Amino acid sequence: MALKHIPQRTCIVCRAVRAKRELVRVVHTPADRVEADATGKKAGRGAYLCRARECWEIVLSARGRLEHALKLEVAIRLEDLALLREFAATLPPRDSVIATPINETK
Ligand SMILES: [Zn+2]
Repeated sequence: MALKHIPQRTCIVCRAVRAKRELVRVVHTPADRVEADATGKKAGRGAYLCRARECWEIVLSARGRLEHALKLEVAIRLEDLALLREFAATLPPRDSVIATPINETK
């Protein structure tokens, strides 16, 4: 059985380490917008969050937290925050998301 290398990322909120595809990337685009990047392939500096509503609500309610993760020098635009909140509302609650983070199975 060949072991496949699975790229892992850490959620900036709860620090859970998961396979990259199980997390959602937030990206600061070259156009200076901050948006959820469902494909994980958009250009720009990215940060990863669980595909769980709670992690998004925490990062969106703590002012400056997402800015810090993305190393932004200015606050994220209100319209971008509104879109991120809309996106967060489409995510499932944490309990329904994979129960065991990768770092607990090592
Ligand atoms: Zn998380």
